[in-house]
Amino acid sequence: LLNDIEQLPPDALFGIRQRLSQDSRAVKVDLGIGAYRDDNGKPWVLPSVRAAEKLIQQDPNYNHEYLGINGLPELAVGAARIIFGENSNALNEGRVVSVQSLSGTGALHLAAKFLSTFLAGRPLYISEPTWANHKGIFQSQGIKTVPYPYWQASTKSLDLDGFLETIREAPSGSVILLHACAHNPTGLDPNEKQWPAILEAIASKNHIALFDSAYQGFASGSLDRDAFAIRLGVEKLAKVSPVFVCQSFAKNVGMYGERVGCFHVVIPQQDEARVDISKINKAVASQLSKITRSEVSNPPAYGAKIVSKILNTPELTEQWHKDMITMSSRITKMRHELREKLIQLNTPGNWDHIVDQCGMFSYTGLTSEMVKRLEAQHAVYMDSSGRASIPGLNQGNVEHVAKAIDEVVRH
Ligand code: PMP
Repeated sequence: LLNDIEQLPPDALFGIRQRLSQDSRAVKVDLGIGAYRDDNGKPWVLPSVRAAEKLIQQDPNYNHEYLGINGLPELAVGAARIIFGENSNALNEGRVVSVQSLSGTGALHLAAKFLSTFLAGRPLYISEPTWANHKGIFQSQGIKTVPYPYWQASTKSLDLDGFLETIREAPSGSVILLHACAHNPTGLDPNEKQWPAILEAIASKNHIALFDSAYQGFASGSLDRDAFAIRLGVEKLAKVSPVFVCQSFAKNVGMYGERVGCFHVVIPQQDEARVDISKINKAVASQLSKITRSEVSNPPAYGAKIVSKILNTPELTEQWHKDMITMSSRITKMRHELREKLIQLNTPGNWDHIVDQCGMFSYTGLTSEMVKRLEAQHAVYMDSSGRASIPGLNQGNVEHVAKAIDEVVRH
């Protein structure tokens, strides 16, 4: 019965990890997987996380019981506060439904299920390029995905005109997926003048915005600055249309494997006198709960307790802010070091984009051929698109990487 099942190729990024682990060369560099590393190339447990774990384990009521179906309420409340802001009208008016999800991927999956059930038939517009998993998550729920222009390779900048034109031409009421900050894979975000134009174009066609926020605090080191687009989007769009936000704590709390995230639905303002917001709120929450119940029963507790403790304990929140600055400033430093070394080597081309881009990644502009040679000849691993995960760089390997790039660019 199973004889004809086709074997699929390994996932591109997890495939890199496998090849890397089998590589016996003395110096090998992982610029593939999007995970933070310290200056020794090691995973980093944030001091705020260690402190939160200690508090949780000292609690006399410590246990491993099930959470409710929609997760830990204190996590969802704290998560909504950092993403929408302390003074959010939507939050104050009770127009946000927030539930815990299986990290960012689980939040996107909830969004896909919710859209295909309640807002069926609308295409989803995704940036070209985008995170490799977006297509799979939405297409698996029968949602048609359509690319919008984003990265202009010739200038290594945003194709704003192409982006706006596609939004204006999309059928009214389409869903537009936006990376809240630190765009994956390009590391290129719209600036604070471009965002209003994008959001106005979305509003003018009554489109629905779906924000994917996987790197809040990673782009700039500031949670508020990195939530700029979401907060402006809620203000401009959630008058007549819902806004969806998928939030991951994998990167900014370094909880990759613990799968902590939240999914938020912002209910439109409408004519508040005539609609009962709390009734809509309860209805949406109950539907999300139905989806989660049948798929994972209830979300995982341990990581959720840690993140919730950090979000709801002022001293830990303060430590966490410092931790995010530690991570984002080391990434910025490595961007500068790589660019400087390439300039010193006189490597052909302009490398300013490495420092202009933000977040975890740099879209280096290296071709897939060059990437192949980087791996084969220099044991430097990155995605075939030329996307390099900058935290993989450190004082011990940045020179090796610069020389390797220099060599493949020249030959
Ligand atoms: N969205 C984007 C843009 C991402 O880069 C990632 C992680 N690579 C995610 C969502 C989801 O991450 P996770 O499920 O690990 O939270």
